Amino acid sequence: MDVTTKALALKATDYKENDKMILLYSLEYGKISVYAKGIRKNSAKLKFCADQFCFGQYELVQSADRFTLKTCDQLESFFCLREDIETYYSACVIAECLSNYTEEGQSEPNVFAETLRALTALADGTEPFIVTLRYLLAFLEMQGLKISFDGCATCGQSANKMYLDLQRGELLCENCRTIDSFFVPARTIATCKMVESMPYDKLKNLIFTRETLKNALTVMYKYLSHCFFPPKSLNELLTL
Ligand SMILES: [Zn+2]
Repeated sequence: MDVTTKALALKATDYKENDKMILLYSLEYGKISVYAKGIRKNSAKLKFCADQFCFGQYELVQSADRFTLKTCDQLESFFCLREDIETYYSACVIAECLSNYTEEGQSEPNVFAETLRALTALADGTEPFIVTLRYLLAFLEMQGLKISFDGCATCGQSANKMYLDLQRGELLCENCRTIDSFFVPARTIATCKMVESMPYDKLKNLIFTRETLKNALTVMYKYLSHCFFPPKSLNELLTL
């Protein structure tokens, strides 16, 4: 059966002599592996659709739960995401969330739309650390793992010193804090709240110090590591 879906190429691995397996994040099917026959031959016309971040209308042949590439109409190459190292690692964080933290074959249109908005903002030159933070906050919320930044989850107080409880994904004050919680500076909390509430096209107006953004992304790193497993590209981004 032939199927058509809008999809983003997350990564591709060599397969047999001339072929590749492409991991796509698609609107209709979520994350899927697609067999691309002959795509590594010099004469292959569809080489581009295995490039990381290629966004296109993919035509596939589906038999049972297996997909084979038929053709692809590129809508956006997102090639520019590979031209700046911070932008690139930010886009890799997004791709890693989709490839490692989503279920195969499960369509999540809101995650798909959020991903395109984030990549478009990056391509548009928005500060990569801010886009990464915005995306991770939204991604966690869509996975039912939203972090609540509104005061202590136990007593309701907004104290000077607040701690994030990794089990609950909630902030706690000094009196209510648990053994699983760690200190989060007030400035980091304010940064997350502000970025979370802002649409992507307004992110360009925000100015934070690099240290503030790194602190916020480090909180994300700890929380993602707790909820799933450590995000490698985020670690790379934080060491830049
Ligand atoms: Zn409390």
